[in-house]
Amino acid sequence: MAAEAHLNAHELVTRENNYLATAARINYYDLVIDHAHGAILTDVEGHDYIDLLASASAINVGHTNARVVDAIQTQAARLIHYTPAYFHHQPEQQLAERLAKLAPGDNNEVAFGNSGSDANDAIIKFARAYTGRQYIVSYMDAYHGSTYGSMTLSGVSLNMTRKMAPLLPGVVHVPYPDLYRRLPGEDEHDVVMRAFAAFKAPFDSYLPVEETACVLIEPIQGDGGIHKAPTEYIQLVYQFCQQHGILFAVDEVNQGMGRTGKMWSIERFPNVRPDLMSVGKSLASGMPLSAVIGRRAVMESLAAPAHVFTTGANPVCCAASLATLDALEAEHLLEKSLVDGAYAEKRFLDMQQRHPKIGDVRMYGLDGGIELVQDPVSKTPDPEFASDVIYDAFQHGVVIITLKGNILRFQPPLVITRPQLDRALLVLDHALTAAENGQVHRPAGKIGW
Ligand code: PMP
Repeated sequence: MAAEAHLNAHELVTRENNYLATAARINYYDLVIDHAHGAILTDVEGHDYIDLLASASAINVGHTNARVVDAIQTQAARLIHYTPAYFHHQPEQQLAERLAKLAPGDNNEVAFGNSGSDANDAIIKFARAYTGRQYIVSYMDAYHGSTYGSMTLSGVSLNMTRKMAPLLPGVVHVPYPDLYRRLPGEDEHDVVMRAFAAFKAPFDSYLPVEETACVLIEPIQGDGGIHKAPTEYIQLVYQFCQQHGILFAVDEVNQGMGRTGKMWSIERFPNVRPDLMSVGKSLASGMPLSAVIGRRAVMESLAAPAHVFTTGANPVCCAASLATLDALEAEHLLEKSLVDGAYAEKRFLDMQQRHPKIGDVRMYGLDGGIELVQDPVSKTPDPEFASDVIYDAFQHGVVIITLKGNILRFQPPLVITRPQLDRALLVLDHALTAAENGQVHRPAGKIGW
């Protein structure tokens, strides 16, 4: 639908504010998207922007990817919906089989839903049902969703969630290992041992290990700032889980589907096989579809209607997902993610030499967190500076947001072309200089959440 001709983007957003609830909006500047293709967004005023979010990592194969569009159109003309829990359709059957085989391990089953949030709720359901235990361990700073279960699993926004208390009982948060903010003299192994001690601490006091159902972790924390857990840490936690009959679950909603150059980010860690895995976002290229994939025995611990949704496994979404998997493969996007990610990392490391406020560059394929700090010694987050950078980038045709206020979230669609990537990196480089020189005059107001 075309924009109302007489309203510009600012007027449209002002008007929208009268009708859309604040709780359902995250602040950004006045950007009203009209259409998008590949890595390019076009707004209602005809301006083009390079999308460095892959629209929050749900568009790994690019906006309006031809395979996906064709699959959606073809499927929509055949069958849009039929109650999936009672009846069957081929897109769901084909997708379940494909995902079960694509996930680590060789004996998996799949249950579909509509969002990453409900897939994480499913992890709680299946883990508790299978083990007969109640406690779940998850991580501080993680974002797992905004249903009650997934919100409880999340380690962010505690001030806000307190307003909605009581949350789900039985969830314990432990700190995620942070290789950037080490204690003096620590090497990676020391960071791992400190984080693992913090992981075990609750078990030494109030948390009965024999009552713990599951540990849920993002192998690479997404909204927490693109932090990759050290391999040794993941292996220690995994072994601990195996020793104590605790399920090991991973959230691949943000980091899966090729984002990091592997189909699943857990594949970056040798010899770890999760019992349960949640997937969403790019699973169906932005169409509402999620999946929890797990070991057959775990997935058979519940019967319907434990995880049944009227529109779950909708045929159009399943067709979009099958086409997304085809596109990842046919367009060699996992390989491209690694090559382009290494290239971008080199460019950011070069920028770090010239821009001392770049405290840390973390890149895993086309999955980057560029941490902006007051100075490299104190490592104090600098959200004001980061806001200047993203505003200046926006003014020059690049859409990027921050994580935790001060970390640039670098997640372009994997199809981004080299000239687009170069352009985006140049714009960011200039934005850093403009912010350093106090040349950015952004409107007042907080961006993000
Ligand atoms: N898990 C992770 C790691 C996420 O990043 C997100 C979304 N940011 C979710 C779960 C929630 O997904 P959804 O918004 O589709 O409910």
